[in-house]
Amino acid sequence: MTNLKNLNFKELENFVIEKGWQKFRAKQIAKWLYIKKVSSYDEMTDLSKEIRNTLKEETEFDSLELVTYQQSKLDGSIKFLWRLKDGNTIETVLIKEKDHWTLCVSTQVGCAVGCRFCYTTKDGLIRNLTTAEIVEQYINVQRFLGEGEENRISNIVYMGMGEPLANYENVKKSVQIFTHPDMCKLSHRKITISSSGILHQIKKMYEDREFPEVKLAVSLNASYQNQRQFLMPISQTNTLEDLLDLLKSIPLKPGWRITLEYVLIKDVNDSPEDAKRLVNLLKRDKHRFKVNLIPFNPFPGSLFQRPEEDRVYRFEKILWDNDIATFIRWSKGRDIDAACGQLRKKHLEEVNA
Ligand code: SAH
Ligand code: SF4
Repeated sequence: MTNLKNLNFKELENFVIEKGWQKFRAKQIAKWLYIKKVSSYDEMTDLSKEIRNTLKEETEFDSLELVTYQQSKLDGSIKFLWRLKDGNTIETVLIKEKDHWTLCVSTQVGCAVGCRFCYTTKDGLIRNLTTAEIVEQYINVQRFLGEGEENRISNIVYMGMGEPLANYENVKKSVQIFTHPDMCKLSHRKITISSSGILHQIKKMYEDREFPEVKLAVSLNASYQNQRQFLMPISQTNTLEDLLDLLKSIPLKPGWRITLEYVLIKDVNDSPEDAKRLVNLLKRDKHRFKVNLIPFNPFPGSLFQRPEEDRVYRFEKILWDNDIATFIRWSKGRDIDAACGQLRKKHLEEVNA
């Protein structure tokens, strides 16, 4: 059974027309789903009973069921665990920033990319999320928070479980729904897609006129090719050099920058020499990039360690001294199994125990 949240606006219009209803019904349905965020067809009071009954019979309303959530006592961020219809589980993290909420959404169950420092990829890729499963993470969490300006989720980052560009079509459609003026109406500037750096998919995204223009973050995680290849097997075919060449050539809107994420791992990629090499890689295009340093988040059985704070600050200082905008992203909710995939894993262990 289809879920209407799998359809972008054009497809929703076509659906409505095929049913023999008037075209403006699409706008009405979109308003209930994405602006009012109702939780059943019965609440769509300006649709006739007949239309509501057809929708109930022929479509599925929810694809996510809340299993549990945890709020961090340290920083107020909240982590949600959802069950999908096939029994798989995924996570979404709601991050409390100074003056707004940011939602970190998942795009796959697991991940095929195999980065050595990442918990999500431990069991490989299980499957892509549907568009509805991506969009409902936002709708359900916004409904959980309630109405009112202080509760509004303004920013979305595709940095949860999975590689967004390996689930290209569904991710694209979710961005269309998030930004469409008759749907979620979120600002393009406040949506960021994070990729491990699959070159042909990044190119495709920039050439695709149907892909709404949103911000790009790329997980660099290393200062030279061998190091990157060790941490991220994808770098064997998508080399550091080719990746940076591509990122330096893609067109950017005025004032927009590409974020480079760099997971700092103790004694692996956190030395002053690494910082200097990174400066060298970026120095000719420093205004095109900003760097987010993410101190490694250890998980049970992980091979690596988080660097001490002074090492993190030392690394940051070298970049700033060279005029490269750099921000440290201390993981939110370290007390609530913050590293992506951990709450899910813990739940699976409990279920299987
Ligand atoms: N697959 C995409 C988006 C999800 S991962 C990507 O790789 O960009 C989001 C970010 O979390 C990436 O920058 C990744 O490098 C980082 N990350 C993964 N595991 C981590 C860990 N254990 N500690 C800190 N950051 C981690
Ligand atoms: Fe996949 Fe991103 Fe984890 Fe790498 S860091 S395994 S790409 S989710």
